[in-house]
Amino acid sequence: MATCHTPDEGVPVGISACLMGEQVRYNGGHKRSRYCLEVLAERFRLEPFCPELAAGLGVPREPIRLMGRPGEEPRVVGTADPELDVTERLEVVSRDFAEGHRHLRGFILMKGSPSCGLERVKVYHPNGMPSHADSGAFVRALRRHFPELPLEEEARMNDAVLRENFITRVYAYDDWKRHVEADPGYHQLLQFHSRQKYLLMAHHVEAYRELGRYLAEASKRPLTEAMDHYLQRFMAALARPATRKTHANALMHVLGYLKQELDGETRRDLLAAIEDYRRGHVQLAVPMRLLNHYLKRHGSEYIRRQTYLDPHPYELGLRNAI
Ligand code: SF4
Repeated sequence: MATCHTPDEGVPVGISACLMGEQVRYNGGHKRSRYCLEVLAERFRLEPFCPELAAGLGVPREPIRLMGRPGEEPRVVGTADPELDVTERLEVVSRDFAEGHRHLRGFILMKGSPSCGLERVKVYHPNGMPSHADSGAFVRALRRHFPELPLEEEARMNDAVLRENFITRVYAYDDWKRHVEADPGYHQLLQFHSRQKYLLMAHHVEAYRELGRYLAEASKRPLTEAMDHYLQRFMAALARPATRKTHANALMHVLGYLKQELDGETRRDLLAAIEDYRRGHVQLAVPMRLLNHYLKRHGSEYIRRQTYLDPHPYELGLRNAI
């Protein structure tokens, strides 16, 4: 699944424009991300967007910040002049962006920004004191108008687990876009679930069971309703990072498909590799590589089609780090 796009096309992923090195910050600066530009750009077709620029705030501009009380939707106002309220302008451009960019498979965000920050953006009380934290205005609009879109902050991608999780979601969503959304049908939906089963199990075993039960009855529902429900639940489940324990569980299930074909010694080697991984002695790439080796020779077509075995480009080395 991970290799279906040619490098020329790339998987379309949005990105805060300042991370691309564009000088769009309030002070005319940028926050160029080497990882995005030198590694991810090899695979993703990065599409920069600056919501504050799109809202007509200009460069340079007065810095803005979130203001409000806990439990309220924060306003976006000028730092020096709280009378400057750009909440509605940002909401309109963010909604238009979400509606005009349904082709995206993910969005990489700049941390801490009152527009682009994914989480933990400071909200100030109307009296000027820091009060609590929330997401930026652009992020809240994306969640509202494009809830299935995978989101991550560039800075959080320094964490190998979060990085692997985001890129896994991008490719899973890409699979959905190209094979289910482009050609909607109950059959395509069931096929998608069938090849994503062990990936889903590694992330969220309860959602794996629940969605299996849901699909057994799905043909009684209107197709659009079934697809919407499935996609929202599936993407939310994948957003929960898999752990060593949940990966080990999924690996054991995959190993079950080789039971008859392997001799006792080979099976013990595979079990030892999974156990070493579960205990944190080796990275996920180790048992995965061994399993893939034997599945290639002895695995049924069903198990070899599992996206879990190859969820993103091998060259990114993501499973060497988790
Ligand atoms: S609004 Fe977003 S893209 Fe624009 S400068 Fe701020 S963080 Fe960067």
